[in-house]
Amino acid sequence: MAVLSAATIGGYRCERHGAHLQCHLCRGMMPNRTNLQVPLNCMGCDRPFCGAYWSSQNVTHGGSTPVCSRDTFRPISERTATRMPSTTHEMNRHEQDITQRCIAKMGRTVQDVVAEWFSLFNDRQIDRSRMPLNHAESITTSTHVCK
Ligand SMILES: [Zn+2]
Ligand SMILES: [Zn+2]
Repeated sequence: MAVLSAATIGGYRCERHGAHLQCHLCRGMMPNRTNLQVPLNCMGCDRPFCGAYWSSQNVTHGGSTPVCSRDTFRPISERTATRMPSTTHEMNRHEQDITQRCIAKMGRTVQDVVAEWFSLFNDRQIDRSRMPLNHAESITTSTHVCK
């Protein structure tokens, strides 16, 4: 793993000897701290993502180091759902399309149904045991997950 030493990222100066995590998406480095308000690892796949960290530092782009946009790693509830979340129907795209057509036939929108699904999810009325997530039991809709 490459070590980023004293690089300046958007005016933010990395600690020279600090531990670093490498973002799974952009391969950029970020400081590995435990006292942050933002998560550095995705609860769904356990991989590190830098989007939430840099946005919490008000850094939107790096100079020589890649920085992910905030959009790549954000709470489930902040995602604008215009179609079915890709985790529904065990990632089966075909079944998602069928569900999407059913929703349209019922005169409802995907946003509407997803909002309902979110509240059921937080109420633990959704079966999580078959979800392709590492920490399905501790995830809520305010948990950060990668795209
Ligand atoms: Zn993930
Ligand atoms: Zn990144």
